Amino acid sequence: MKNLVVAIDGPAGAGKSTVAQLAAKKLGYTYIDTGAMYRAVAWKTLQQGKKVTDELILAVVKDIDVNLQYQDGKTTVTVDGTDVTGQIRTPEVSAIVSQVAALGPVREKMVDLQRKMGERGSVLMDGRDIATNVLPNADVKIFLTASIEERARRRHKELTEKGYEIDMEKMKADIAARDKADSEREISPLVQAEDATLLDTTGLSIDEVVERILAMCK
Ligand code: C5P
Repeated sequence: MKNLVVAIDGPAGAGKSTVAQLAAKKLGYTYIDTGAMYRAVAWKTLQQGKKVTDELILAVVKDIDVNLQYQDGKTTVTVDGTDVTGQIRTPEVSAIVSQVAALGPVREKMVDLQRKMGERGSVLMDGRDIATNVLPNADVKIFLTASIEERARRRHKELTEKGYEIDMEKMKADIAARDKADSEREISPLVQAEDATLLDTTGLSIDEVVERILAMCK
């Protein structure tokens, strides 16, 4: 298949990274998880052990080296050379990541890196503003979503498997709050691009979603 650039956006818990990763594997493409990059900045901010303020986040982003490596179907995220892959999907990081991602200097630095990674083609990139801002000329644009109940269920399952005990109602409220913050921010808010195809995954299996994405790339 041609060296396509595929952009997948959508709200939290829509299953973007799961299906994007599988589709990338089938296509022999590189998968780029842009949410992991914002999470990496949020992780380093928490590591400072101070009250999280915009000033603190801006100081952190000034001096951070975030790197994504995709190899053998797995993404490794490093911050200043340290592997933080297993530490960026905690509820603590999720709780502050939207604040981090709303700041202009954070987005500028991350988008710059993302565009460089996307330039090479044969990539599948997922996030919130990929089709609208990072790669507006992407060949395939997909807006992946699912009902809030289903998204909360998926995230709940993921965290429970990691040993966290989280109330389902709280999970739903946290996801809704993150979607609201991401959709209402001033810079590059979460929105479906005009030329993106809507794919509602409620009630669909992972394989069915992957098949639909592959069909769109044909
Ligand atoms: O995709 P994930 O849930 O890991 O993303 C974490 C957060 O990173 C999102 O809630 C959003 O605040 C931010 N993000 C963003 N733009 C992207 C990807 C993620 O603002 N392209």
